[in-house]
Amino acid sequence: MQNIKTNLTNLLTQIRACEQEFHRPANSVALLAVSKQQPIEKIQQAIAAGQRCFGESYLQEALPKILALANESIEWHFIGPLQSNKTKKIAEYFQWVHSVDSLRMAKRLNNQRPAHLPPLNICLEINVSAENTKKGVKSEDVFSLIDYCLTLPNLKLRGLMAIPLPQKTFESQCLEFQKLTSLYKNIQERGVMLDTLSMGMSNDWQAAIAAGANLLRIGTGVFGKRNHTSVAHPE
Ligand SMILES: *Cc1c(COP(=O)(O)O)cnc(C)c1O
Repeated sequence: MQNIKTNLTNLLTQIRACEQEFHRPANSVALLAVSKQQPIEKIQQAIAAGQRCFGESYLQEALPKILALANESIEWHFIGPLQSNKTKKIAEYFQWVHSVDSLRMAKRLNNQRPAHLPPLNICLEINVSAENTKKGVKSEDVFSLIDYCLTLPNLKLRGLMAIPLPQKTFESQCLEFQKLTSLYKNIQERGVMLDTLSMGMSNDWQAAIAAGANLLRIGTGVFGKRNHTSVAHPE
């Protein structure tokens, strides 16, 4: 049985130590607890331990959790792949989406964000290891997507997100993350206000902090191993 409170306490202590080690300002790195494929009881334990931000990748799995925990003052971040038939509910039930990677998805989320809610916070998912996947915006397409997102009143562009290919060494992990950091700085230098650099997971978050991350997305390191069998994967 995982003790979520102990995991969280230890992880936050390590994150603060890592900030110091890499000369990052104290408390500049926040933790998104990735609760996908984890039971609601573990999320409740994390809430009791003071965790406020949770990440989910699959809408069907997330919705019952969001509804059951509707009375808690917590924040839900959608971090999974976007599909057009899911954007409406995502725009209604989440406060953040980290995985915006096309004009089309940005437009759908903007149009489907309910008028009574504040703008949906978004990060653009960048394809930093370009040779590998189709997921994520390619660096050359980033600026046109940013310009477009800035015209959408129901979206609030907050930053960038990436899931680099797994690397063997700390140094090569840093190199991948630094690609995202330099793009982030480049965009800021052009006068676009960004405050969120979402990178680093259970196996590489130290390198992400060294490279400048300010929002880590950690699942296993908080909740233990995911239960793949209990979750139906519709996608
Ligand atoms: C699952 C997932 C995570 C968390 O992964 P861990 O290795 O369990 O920390 C982070 N980001 C995204 C996009 C994920 O899908």
